[in-house]
Amino acid sequence: MKVEVVGTSCNWFSRHNTSFIIDDKILFDVPEGNYKQIIKSIDVLKLDWIFISHLHDDHVADLKIITTRFIRENYIRNKKLKIYGPKGLAEFIVKVCGLFFGGDDELDFDLLKSKIEFVEIYDGMEFTEGKYNIKVKKMNHGRVECYGLIFADKTGKVISFSADTLDCQSLHEMLEVSNYAFVDMAASKPSRSHLTNIEFVELEKKYKNCKMFPVHTNDECQEFAIKNKLNYLEDGQLLDL
Ligand SMILES: [Zn+2]
Ligand SMILES: [Zn+2]
Repeated sequence: MKVEVVGTSCNWFSRHNTSFIIDDKILFDVPEGNYKQIIKSIDVLKLDWIFISHLHDDHVADLKIITTRFIRENYIRNKKLKIYGPKGLAEFIVKVCGLFFGGDDELDFDLLKSKIEFVEIYDGMEFTEGKYNIKVKKMNHGRVECYGLIFADKTGKVISFSADTLDCQSLHEMLEVSNYAFVDMAASKPSRSHLTNIEFVELEKKYKNCKMFPVHTNDECQEFAIKNKLNYLEDGQLLDL
């Protein structure tokens, strides 16, 4: 699986927000500010599907740009774009487009649904897309509903994306079965919604068979990752896993 790391950080810092392009055809999250980076690598009108982990701005904000492009340029392809995401995602997009594009009546709910298929995700959901078998895991991101993904390919290789989470049972279950995992390490001190760098290191020691990449890092955590020789990533890095 080819994974392009569009960004490694979160809203407040100079690096881009954390999101991924998988095999040039799948997006995992579309955060604020990442659209322009994404189109340097791929043509979004050729995407197979998009996964949205949760409805925080630094994971979903630029989806409004992709959805409006699909509405206006969908004649270029003859199949709907599929977007997997939490309950209420379609309504959220309509509301956000209304706010940011001045209530343009091209962006109503029926038109959106005629061009894009929204699939509501839930804990334990399993589905197959192309060569991947995928499992959805509900994580613990404080008060916000948030989901991670476990990808298994035909060879049995397993790659996971934790999205934003505290240390929780789902994360342990994910790491237990994964060969590679992109894991939230946003907090340099105890947080109500993110894993800390110290917790990340503890998990690394426990799940030695899984190569863990710290993502969503604040600058302090990124420095920690470099200094402690964790598998830190740079924006735009390409991985062949
Ligand atoms: Zn979040
Ligand atoms: Zn986030």
